[in-house]
Amino acid sequence: MSLSALASSIAESPTLSLNETARALREKGESVIHLGGGEPKNKAPRSAAQACAAKLEGGDVKYTPTSGTAGLKQAVARYTEQSYGWSVGPANVIVCDGAKGALFNVLFALVDPGDEVVVLAPYWVSYPEMIKMVRGVPVIVRPPEGGFVPRLEDVAAALGAKTKALIVNSPNNPSGAVYPEELVAGLVRLCEERGIAYISDDIYHKLVFDGRTTPSPYRATDQDPETTKIISINGISKLFGMTGFRIGWAVAPKAMVKVLARIQAQTVSCTSGLLQAAAEGALNGPPADFEALRSSLQANRDVMMRELAAIPRLKVRRPEGTFYCLPDFRAYGADSAALARLLLEKALVVTVPGREFGMEGHLRLSYCTSAEEIREGAARIRWALDPEAPKQMRIGSKTVVRDWL
Ligand code: PMP
Ligand code: GLU
Repeated sequence: MSLSALASSIAESPTLSLNETARALREKGESVIHLGGGEPKNKAPRSAAQACAAKLEGGDVKYTPTSGTAGLKQAVARYTEQSYGWSVGPANVIVCDGAKGALFNVLFALVDPGDEVVVLAPYWVSYPEMIKMVRGVPVIVRPPEGGFVPRLEDVAAALGAKTKALIVNSPNNPSGAVYPEELVAGLVRLCEERGIAYISDDIYHKLVFDGRTTPSPYRATDQDPETTKIISINGISKLFGMTGFRIGWAVAPKAMVKVLARIQAQTVSCTSGLLQAAAEGALNGPPADFEALRSSLQANRDVMMRELAAIPRLKVRRPEGTFYCLPDFRAYGADSAALARLLLEKALVVTVPGREFGMEGHLRLSYCTSAEEIREGAARIRWALDPEAPKQMRIGSKTVVRDWL
């Protein structure tokens, strides 16, 4: 069978394939520490489980409307109003297969072959590949050395006649940085002036620490819900840790939602009614469900920061949100894939190479595992990389002697 050149050029998702690596090692009984993961360890909120069970019990197993059930769209509209003060109705909402599905539909709706989409490094692994899948061209803007936040003037310089959209992800996967309000406002104005879409990937927007809130792009616009250039993307994967339920959404002007619904109708029809019921239950559930998850991640962030401080020569920026951090490992080698391989093979610690996020020399470490695993993972990293650390380490049932430094 001969594959299309486009399909052959699409890279594997490194984050998902590392999940599989960690799973396979665990199944083999290896004492692997998974600091590569992008999903918290919580259970589904009760309100979500009950709503889903009630729907199944009622025997309703049919297609839902393409853009989502009335109940869920209503709940998303309410959530949007409460979270951003942006007043929209159900017709401004489309429910998709995860935030990933929403993002893909939006890119498909905006991009013609050869059009450019500006992506800000460090960026989530799937943006460039999705842009390529709709035959667009990703244009990467890098932050100043040592930082994770782009300069407005660098973004402005990257926008050209072919630019159709800018993707902004703050709080940011992989760095945990939250973009300052002035930058967000500047980016929104830039998009409005140039007539391009501002895609706000808000999947982590509530997962912020130390009493912070995430600056909202909607605060920066004087447009209304039907004229705005802002398309926000969100979902239940991170908000409620319900990654496997695959429910996300886009909020956009009604005319855009209509186009997105046509795309969805011709591809996946709709998402599962059972899972939409669960998402509606989660969104209508008590805020305590979400707050418990957020505060446990903040406590884990603190543990991770304390443990990484013990590794000499590592440069770490304290994340303001998400459940990731992106330390600079260049003191231990410039090749992040080689470093990640060494840590996996010698220390059984899964990390994600910074190269995958456009930040070579860094490793993404996630702290959505247990505090105990974070401590053990950081101790193993130090042992594997730091010549001053004791030569021997107990890994699972074996004592391993470091002979590679
Ligand atoms: N955007 C970012 C920045 C992410 O990290 C993820 C990770 N899952 C997604 C989108 C996709 O989320 P979902 O699971 O809802 O598809
Ligand atoms: N977004 C998470 C991550 O970056 C989950 C995996 C994925 O969808 O890429 O690890």
